[in-house]
Amino acid sequence: MARKIVVIGGGIVGSSIAALLPDDVSVTVLDRGPVGRLAGSTGLAPGFVGLLNEIPVLTELARASAELYDDLELDGTRGFERVGGVEVAGSPEAAEKLTKRAELAAAAGLPHRLLDAAETVALAPDLINPEHCHRGLHFTADGAARPDILTAALRKRSNARFVHDATVIGIELSGNRAAAVRTETDTYPADDVVLAGGIWGPQLAAMVDVQLPLTSFAHPYVYGPETASAPAAPFVRWPEHQVYTRHHGGRLGLGTYNHAIQPVPQDDLGASAEKPWPGEVFDEAVHRAMRLLPTPFNPAERLNGMFAVTPDNLPFLGPIPNIEGLWSAVAIWVTSAGGAARALVDQLLDKDPRFPDLHTLAPTRFEGQDPEALRTRARHLYNDIYASL
Ligand SMILES: Cc1cc2nc3c(=O)[nH]c(=O)nc-3n(C[C@H](O)[C@H](O)[C@H](O)COP(=O)(O)OP(=O)(O)OC[C@H]3O[C@@H](n4cnc5c(N)ncnc54)[C@H](O)[C@@H]3O)c2cc1C
Repeated sequence: MARKIVVIGGGIVGSSIAALLPDDVSVTVLDRGPVGRLAGSTGLAPGFVGLLNEIPVLTELARASAELYDDLELDGTRGFERVGGVEVAGSPEAAEKLTKRAELAAAAGLPHRLLDAAETVALAPDLINPEHCHRGLHFTADGAARPDILTAALRKRSNARFVHDATVIGIELSGNRAAAVRTETDTYPADDVVLAGGIWGPQLAAMVDVQLPLTSFAHPYVYGPETASAPAAPFVRWPEHQVYTRHHGGRLGLGTYNHAIQPVPQDDLGASAEKPWPGEVFDEAVHRAMRLLPTPFNPAERLNGMFAVTPDNLPFLGPIPNIEGLWSAVAIWVTSAGGAARALVDQLLDKDPRFPDLHTLAPTRFEGQDPEALRTRARHLYNDIYASL
């Protein structure tokens, strides 16, 4: 009989795993969201895929993700374009950091160019205000994703059965082995169970008394009004201001991490990764961030979406010790999702690892540590997210 793998969560992570598992495995993906709508973070992400990270394993996962995404399209719409990414420094001090990032990129074998102010602005004149541009670092292999298209294309590519409106309420064990997944209406027998529930990962892990210490944060992203489609420009980031922007066809989008943090406790998550816009905190941050654009825009749409941050900015990826057949693929960005799925599928199939340092992603690496201290570490990382990205 075919090996049965049940994946809980059909966002970009669960869908990538489903797409990469071989056909001789019987795969079921359970998601409580309805058909045709992504209930999790994937449906809200603007989709920057930057390959370079100070943590080498994240660079490798991102590289593999981009390679997977390169081929994905749905009905003629591509899910990923290598438009490039440019990091802008507004001061000589920030420019020094770009020089270090360039060295890191060279060591990782990633194509990049250090640019003067005029060259930087010329890459994306409608996104970069020359008054706040001293130098730039252009990563030509970075890209901008449409995570909804990628996820739909991955699902289409896979042979898995996707079950929607399926809320998982329990994971059954037989001795120390995962044996089945229970939803409100059905039970799905399983040889292996993969937790791919994003910000809800801790709730799924708690069903078998495992702690995944991630913190969910609300994050602002705004879209401008629809205008004529602009020529493709790189994704732009100002690491010193913790701000980023991109084109979405004819609309501009802008996000910022430079605001008072908004952690959301697990009990308050609800079933959607989107929360109401929290007024002044985000309005003020967005207003400040707009100074970096040559022409600030009036947001036509405001989005408050949640994503997961772990105490060391690394995913919880791999087998969960002491419970045979239970796996975690949680706290993973779109940037790393395809590569992380490859790494997990290799482990599921007992293949030689193709990525370095996977042990650093072990889901129970914080076992025994004080939960409040771990939450504090994650809170610092939210504002400092560009320190390592
Ligand atoms: C505003 C915003 C901006 C972002 N920007 C970027 C970016 O530029 N680049 C980038 O790489 N990443 C970005 N991210 C992060 C990225 O979106 C997420 O890390 C990624 O989408 C997580 O994918 P996932 O599949 O793990 O989780 P999700 O997409 O959240 O999927 C998890 C799924 O699990 C299901 N689920 C949970 N609990 C249960 C249950 N009990 N029963 C059944 N189903 C369940 C949910 O319904 C959901 O569909 C951003 C996120 C947000 C919100």
